[in-house]
Amino acid sequence: MELIKVFLPLLMKSFKRYLVTSALPYANGPKHIGHLAGAYLPADIYVRYLRANKRDVLFVSGSDEHGAAITMQAIKENTTPREIVDKYHAMLKSNMADLNISFDIYHRTTEPLHHETAQEFFSALNDSGELEIKETEQFYDEESQTFLADRYIMGTCPICANDSAYGDQCEKCGSTLSPDQLINPHSTLSGRTPIKKLTKHWFLPLNKHEAWLRQWILNEHKKDWKTNVLGQCKSWLDAGLQPRAVTRDLDWGVSVPLDEAKGKVLYVWFDAPIGYISATKQWALDNKKDWKPYWHSADTKLIHFIGKDNIVFHSIIFPVMLKLHGNILPDNVPSNEFMNLEGDKMSTSRGWSIEMEDYINDFVKKENGGGMLVDALRYYLTAISPETKDSEFTWKGFQDSVNNELVAIFGNFVNRTFVLMHKLCKGKVPTLHADSLDATDNKVFEEILNTKQKIENLLEQYKFRDALFEVIDLARKGNKYLQEKEPWIVAKKREELQKVSPPAGGGDPIAIGLGASIDNTLHICLQLTANLSIFINPFLPSTAQKMIRLMKVVDKMLEWENAGKPKLLSIGYSLRAPELLFRKIEDEEVMMQVEKLKAAINTLEKNNKVTNMEEPKSEISNLKSEIVYDDFAKLDLKVGTILSAEKVEKADKLLKLEVDLGFEKRIVVSGIALHFKPEEIIGKQVVVVANLTPRKMRGIESNGMILMAEDKEGKLYFVSPEQKIHEGSSVT
Ligand SMILES: [Zn+2]
Repeated sequence: MELIKVFLPLLMKSFKRYLVTSALPYANGPKHIGHLAGAYLPADIYVRYLRANKRDVLFVSGSDEHGAAITMQAIKENTTPREIVDKYHAMLKSNMADLNISFDIYHRTTEPLHHETAQEFFSALNDSGELEIKETEQFYDEESQTFLADRYIMGTCPICANDSAYGDQCEKCGSTLSPDQLINPHSTLSGRTPIKKLTKHWFLPLNKHEAWLRQWILNEHKKDWKTNVLGQCKSWLDAGLQPRAVTRDLDWGVSVPLDEAKGKVLYVWFDAPIGYISATKQWALDNKKDWKPYWHSADTKLIHFIGKDNIVFHSIIFPVMLKLHGNILPDNVPSNEFMNLEGDKMSTSRGWSIEMEDYINDFVKKENGGGMLVDALRYYLTAISPETKDSEFTWKGFQDSVNNELVAIFGNFVNRTFVLMHKLCKGKVPTLHADSLDATDNKVFEEILNTKQKIENLLEQYKFRDALFEVIDLARKGNKYLQEKEPWIVAKKREELQKVSPPAGGGDPIAIGLGASIDNTLHICLQLTANLSIFINPFLPSTAQKMIRLMKVVDKMLEWENAGKPKLLSIGYSLRAPELLFRKIEDEEVMMQVEKLKAAINTLEKNNKVTNMEEPKSEISNLKSEIVYDDFAKLDLKVGTILSAEKVEKADKLLKLEVDLGFEKRIVVSGIALHFKPEEIIGKQVVVVANLTPRKMRGIESNGMILMAEDKEGKLYFVSPEQKIHEGSSVT
């Protein structure tokens, strides 16, 4: 045993301090909750967990205030870049604070300290000969007499035919583009077709670094980096890296610190990640600390939380910069995939998104103590976190997840415990009668310890979603335990016994036994509640605060070293009266949001119709992004026959169907009640997505999904085989 204790820390690489970064958002507009789910919320959960573990951790981010995205927005809003960044930096900073993202510093890249830091970084690389100077042809607008950033060139996307694609990206289909690929390119400044003109720029020769990148990423981090990150890195490396321009011709950004480079600025991809370093420096200045160990000491664990569009910058390009500059490399780059919204890609410019600002105004600020609604969003976004593949936010899913999991499992357990403790134990933590503990009681203590271990392992691997499910599962076990022990029934029995033989002298031994059982059950439920508050704290900090207030304990109890302990609350200690931790999300709230989305998309379509009078919108633009055959092959589509159908109580749109799939009969809940009467569809053959994760709808577990075709008017039709065939036949 002793040997293991001594050697374990040597086996696990141990770090003295943690530096956690979240991608710098562009301060060119509001940011949506997909960004929150991608790079800010997971980082915040991780950081809160580390802090609860008393580790030395610094959490930095800030607004990315340079680049053409900013100057473009200034043109759009008819103002200056400075006003744009001031406006949106303030918005983003307060949004993050409102959603309890606990940065140690949220900095900005227009600060002089950042400009100095980025210039010093450039000079260091340039002086040591790590940069190359090249003359290249760039797009130039003769009328405006200026070189054009990729963003300033618009044209038709060669992939999806969107006629307002930018020179660097098509926001409609998400393709990365170069201005050369655009059909009919034109300058957004003058509307003219740009010409090409020679200009001198500094390049980072990424191609020189392929060998060590390959070794470092694909070998050394083969096991601990996420497969989506490794996959993207591998395809970039396999395709061969190209020298990348570090400087550009633009009048907004960090000036290149060389006399021969007048009018040129650092490319925003180069200056932005250096923002993490300048943020660290500013934090150190503000707190009288030394910033250097965070970026120079090998015992610092550097972790970049990002969305998938940022993988190449944080796992290939920035590491090259860091290495050349003598800094440490990231230990991990836990990138998330994208979160879609109600079946489509989230996009602020298209109006198909939920801005953090809007959620805060529509939910958080409308309610006294809006912390519960912050936690409701944090809960759902974590529960559907796009950790390994794209995921989907739906308002109905938000409502179901909050009402059926957070309220019905976690909130319910804590509330029942408090209500029963007040009813049966005078509002005090009852004694634990160790001699009367049974196997069910002891099992709860075991489960608490197991949960602790599981959460720790999952969080260390950045699996936030699974870790959260462990917390909910523990609460579910608490409910089951209460249900098995039924202390309210035991209390009734005791009452009846006491009526027959009043508690004189030592009292009735059976009644005493029953009393001990009630005490033990509630004692255990309360210790479980205390543990739940520690476990939920990194995910839902407001909820944890509410819980410790109810238990009348101090913040210190939430420290992770207390997790798993069986005696967090002292016997005889009186606790506050029960209060609900959460409230349900109502149908009307969800409906309002869905209407809002529909309105946004209608306005957009109307606008499109006006601008695209001559060119009717191509049908192809309704397609989702391309998938490979393997994506399709993941679907298990089976033919089934509807055996029975009935309406679901209090749900206008839902039918509960029993479907015969040949190999088994399934219950499937389908949102078709407004289109079909139950009796009409019995005996009908349908196609079922048979390997869909079961999902609870209105308390009924739905095991699969029925495929429907929807016409322009929104009328639904079953997708069925042309003639009756065997149940269980595959659709391929
Ligand atoms: Zn496109």
